[in-house]
This record gives sequence, structure tokens and C-alpha cells, in this order.
Amino acid sequence: MSIRDQIASLEALASLDVDVRRMEEQIGKQRGSLEGMRAEARDLEARLKTDRETLAMMDKTRSELQIELRQMTQQIERSREKLARSRNERETNAAQREIEELRKLHRDREEELERLTNAAEEARKSIDATDTKLKGVVGAVEGTQEGTMQSLEQLEANRAARLQERDGIVKKLPVPLYRRYESIRTKRPYAIAATHDGTCQGCHMTLPPMMFQTMKRQDAFEQCPSCRRILYYVPAPSRAAEGGDDEPGKQSSSSPSRA
Ligand SMILES: [Zn+2]
Repeated sequence: MSIRDQIASLEALASLDVDVRRMEEQIGKQRGSLEGMRAEARDLEARLKTDRETLAMMDKTRSELQIELRQMTQQIERSREKLARSRNERETNAAQREIEELRKLHRDREEELERLTNAAEEARKSIDATDTKLKGVVGAVEGTQEGTMQSLEQLEANRAARLQERDGIVKKLPVPLYRRYESIRTKRPYAIAATHDGTCQGCHMTLPPMMFQTMKRQDAFEQCPSCRRILYYVPAPSRAAEGGDDEPGKQSSSSPSRA
């Protein structure tokens, strides 16, 4: 396989890899958004469970307090009867003190009940809001799930087809060249770069003139001293025909001598 053929294969491989990477990003994004919505629904469900448990506890305490208040009212009633029956000052004072203490306790319990009732009311509102939010998220998951799954399936199929195509190209390349490509690709997603005028088109650095002169023979690949991409020479016109982003002004500096 000539260097020219290898260049063609490398370019095909690099553009395939761009496609595959783009597909994988989309796959990741779609999976991520669906998973994100599901995770939000799980969080909301967990919060609802906790909030409902808390509310149930508050309601239980409230009904206990109400019972307690009724009992205190009865006790106060009994103390009043005691006061009415008191036969001397000592008994009167004792009965009055009892009534006062009971009334104070009653007031405290009443305040506690009021605080708790307000808190329970807030909790109920918050539960309603969370419940509405959960229904919205569940609806969004159900609404997008099918479409997302279909689109994911399509993306996976395209990706598999691309990877198969890739295998065919890889088989044609010399193993050391492919290994080098893969090793560069871990740092530079686009692992190859062309030059036609002594400038690396990957990083736009000027190559050492000697190196560039050697490259023009097109009998070996080089590596860009600056970005480490696999570097190869292509004459300017062919690049321009492929729609490369070359600057026309620079083409005159290198002679596209090789046909
Ligand atoms: Zn470079």
C-alpha cells in the first residue's frame, strides 16, 4: 500500500472517527437527559415519602394535644368546683393557684397546637407542590421516553455501521501506523494533519524546512513537532479541490510539483 493510499485511508478513518465521536456525544446526551429526568422523579418521590411521614407524625401529635386540652379543661372545671366549695382562705388560695397553673399549661398547649397546625398546613402545601412537580416530571419522561429510545436505537445502529466501516479501513493500514494514530487520538481527537506549504494544518505551526523538504517526497509519514499529529504532505491543488481551508495566498510558496 503506497503512502498515498495510506493517506486516503487515514483521512477516511479520521473523518469516520469524527462522525462516531459526534454520535457518541449525542447518545450520551440523550441518555443523560432521560436519566436526569428519571433521577429527578426518584428524588421527588423520596421527598414526598419523607414529607408525608412527617405530616402524619404532626397530625398524630396534634390529635394527642387536642385530647390533652380537653382533659385540662375538665381539670380546670373540677378545680373551679373545688374553689366554690372551699371553706377557708387556705383552701381558696390553693384552688386558685391550681386553676392558674392549669390555665397556664392550657395556654402553652394551645400555642403548641397552633404552631403545629400552621406547620402541618405548610407541609400539606409543600406536599401538594412536590406532587404537582412530580406529575410534571413523570409526564415529561413518558412523553420523551419513546422518542428518545427510538432516536437512541437509530444512533446506536448508525454507530455500529460506522464502526464496521472503520474496521475495514483499519485492516488496510499498517499496524504501527494505526497504533500511532490511536495513541495520538487519546490526546488529539483529530490525530492527523496535512501540510502543503510547510505549515501544519492541525496546529498552524511552521515546520522545520528540512523536514518539509523530505516530506515532499511522500515516502514516509512525519509527526508534527508541535502538536504530534501524524503529518503528511499533499500538494496544494488537490487540497483545494477537496475544499480544504487553505489560504490561497500561501499556495504560491510551495510548488505542487508532484502529480
Ligand atoms: Zn501540528
